[in-house]
Amino acid sequence: MRTVLRLKRLMPEVMWTVWGNRSCSNSSIRRLESNTSILKHLISKITATGPISVAEYMREALTNPVSGYYVKNDMLGAGGDFITSPEISQIFGELLGVWCVSEWMAAGKSSVFQLVELGPGRGSLASDILRVFSQLKAVLGETDISVHLVEVSPKLSQLQAKCLTGDQTWTCNDDQPVYRSGTTCTGLPIYWYHRIEDVPRGFSVFLAHEFFDALPIHKFQRTEKGWREVMVDIDPESPEKLRFVVSHSPTLASSMLIQKDENRQHVEVCPEGGVIVQKLANRIADDGGAALIVDYGHDGTKTDTFRGFKGHQLHNVLEAPGMADLTADVDFSYLRKITGNQVTCLGPITQRSFLKNMGIDSRLQVLLRSCHDPSTRAQLINSYDMLINPEKMGHRFQFFSVLSRGRLAQRKGMQKDTAPLPVAGFAELNVQ
Ligand code: SAH
Repeated sequence: MRTVLRLKRLMPEVMWTVWGNRSCSNSSIRRLESNTSILKHLISKITATGPISVAEYMREALTNPVSGYYVKNDMLGAGGDFITSPEISQIFGELLGVWCVSEWMAAGKSSVFQLVELGPGRGSLASDILRVFSQLKAVLGETDISVHLVEVSPKLSQLQAKCLTGDQTWTCNDDQPVYRSGTTCTGLPIYWYHRIEDVPRGFSVFLAHEFFDALPIHKFQRTEKGWREVMVDIDPESPEKLRFVVSHSPTLASSMLIQKDENRQHVEVCPEGGVIVQKLANRIADDGGAALIVDYGHDGTKTDTFRGFKGHQLHNVLEAPGMADLTADVDFSYLRKITGNQVTCLGPITQRSFLKNMGIDSRLQVLLRSCHDPSTRAQLINSYDMLINPEKMGHRFQFFSVLSRGRLAQRKGMQKDTAPLPVAGFAELNVQ
């Protein structure tokens, strides 16, 4: 049993109101950190070609191939910048494992079953899911199961390989879509890719836990002259610092990405998230399967959610790019809109509701019954509370699912009026 961790990524509702004017630490360490190679690179770029979009800034800071935050760091855990639900308790991954199997069964037990995870972090979620698959061998039978991880970070892919295969992997040539492959500790083939489009087609259950919030967003401000994009520029008062500015004229993004009926004053749009969810939807419509997207987010109501985390503290987003996590709430209404009517979307519903519906209370009782060590029992209870307490992660995190259109239709050819099987997590399960 993995022991639980004690920290989490807290998301205070506090957002800055004056852009580019957040307090800067005076410590020499901070000044040193601010001078990252990414900052220098961005300053040269802005000097040469003018202000850049927030999306470009975020992409460079997070996934620059040489010094991007995700590319070179293990940011998860107590010593990192934030901690996520799969790292907090094994129960989380176990219940998601049950969800995957349940959707595979409801979709007709396809003979091929790809588990695809986007942004797997340290591999803890996949590891807990694979343990469930092993325990449910009798149900999964001879199904041809494989594991596919979409991961941009070489550093994290190594940690995933260690966690999931005991480091028994092979790296592949650069010209191959698969950059690493191996066999999991549970005996399944496993592959790593940089992009979702490289994952083979076929019945798949896709999981994305705290992945969409890391994708670059554009920011827009309503002005008297219409919508304008918020850009990142050099601070004229301090040429080694960056600040936000509002573009004088419309940009391609401000012309294309704002909905006609938008009534907010400030909007964040994540077109990359839109492209990825569209790819998931196309695949689910054509090949069958389901997707579960778990993140903090809103249903098209929030405005300014872009924020940074470093060492479990809020961090000025424009300071030390590449050294801190940057994130923005996921707009689930945008994802739903993009998927169109080729698939069915469920949620978002709160993490608390989803995990309760999946039977987290019974699972906790089972674990407690077989555990007599007082400190482990306390950890189990604390981590359960962290996952479902509305004041902690229970209401901040949302579950959103993309399903094939037929999934919720009445089942034809069976007894008249046979109702569709409920979708686990989104409806209460009868746990015996
Ligand atoms: N799912 C994990 C990790 C969340 S952190 C958990 O919840 O613990 C975000 C993850 O997405 C990291 O693994 C990061 O390297 C990966 N990632 C971020 N941007 C990505 C991109 N554009 N393509 C693929 N992976 C990305």
